Amino acid sequence: MEIAGVRVARATRVRHAIELIELADGTRISLPTCFVNGASAGPRLYLGAAIHGDEVNGVAIVARVLQKLDPSHLAGSIVAMLVQNPLALHADHRLALSHYLKSPLDQAPNDAWSCFPGRPDGSLAEKLAHILFGLIRACDYAIDLHTPTRGGRYVPITILPDPALGEPFQRAEKLGEAFGSGYIVKTTTGMYVRDGILAVEATRAGVPAFTFEIGEGGRLEPDMVAIGVRCVENALKHLGMVRGEPDPPERVVRIREFVGLRATRGGLLFTDAPLGAPVRRGEVLARITSVYGDELELLTSPADGVFVRSTTLSTVASGERAVTIGLVE
Ligand SMILES: [Zn+2]
Repeated sequence: MEIAGVRVARATRVRHAIELIELADGTRISLPTCFVNGASAGPRLYLGAAIHGDEVNGVAIVARVLQKLDPSHLAGSIVAMLVQNPLALHADHRLALSHYLKSPLDQAPNDAWSCFPGRPDGSLAEKLAHILFGLIRACDYAIDLHTPTRGGRYVPITILPDPALGEPFQRAEKLGEAFGSGYIVKTTTGMYVRDGILAVEATRAGVPAFTFEIGEGGRLEPDMVAIGVRCVENALKHLGMVRGEPDPPERVVRIREFVGLRATRGGLLFTDAPLGAPVRRGEVLARITSVYGDELELLTSPADGVFVRSTTLSTVASGERAVTIGLVE
């Protein structure tokens, strides 16, 4: 196959660097890439990690999948963007912080994840989205791996694009089901289904895609990486790219909507409910105390659901999100 000007022979892999920008001292920043061409024909899968630079579990997941994979046993091909946002990874931050701090106005918009399909002459985030979108459009399916940004933790959760996207959405849903993370979100509201989001724009362009969130921002977690590797391998099996049947999770929680609970008081945040647990309406999920130890607020579940995302920061100010539950189908 030939992609991004690189020829990849049958049953081989090539590591490559795709140029992004030049910094003031002449340093060239590029995107670490791995192209894998299988031994026989099949779909082409895009795997992208760390479009938010502190979301490193995805980097380790994609790296491990590639290490385990024998190209001579692969049908089709893989375009793996191990670090979709290298300047953000350098900062160990959601955004390319050096650019953002230096010229926040010029660099707006600054979150590449929500800038798709991007612009070749735009801000760094828009330019990055443009380059990534060119690669995504050369693929048949795409998976975008995330964790929450630093200070948050998700259960392993597959978040589908907007169901209004028709036939490509249906294929994204089938792929997401086979992916088997144990939690799957099919919703028409919230940021994950908005215009501009990577998986939404990919699916709109005819490349079925979804967002996968797992674990905690700013941390590398071997147990979460192992789950993610199993899920990506399930996707490869579902697409007929490697042999075998997908390994399903023990149970599947189907979520129709996220509900975030924001603190109305500021203080220390104590989270009582275990992540992933079913919760009942009125159940206490977290508590906020003053720095003197006085209890200021109890955060209770507004409905029956599942506790899917916790805040791992030790403090909250009034207005900050402390807990997210998923309303179950
Ligand atoms: Zn993210």
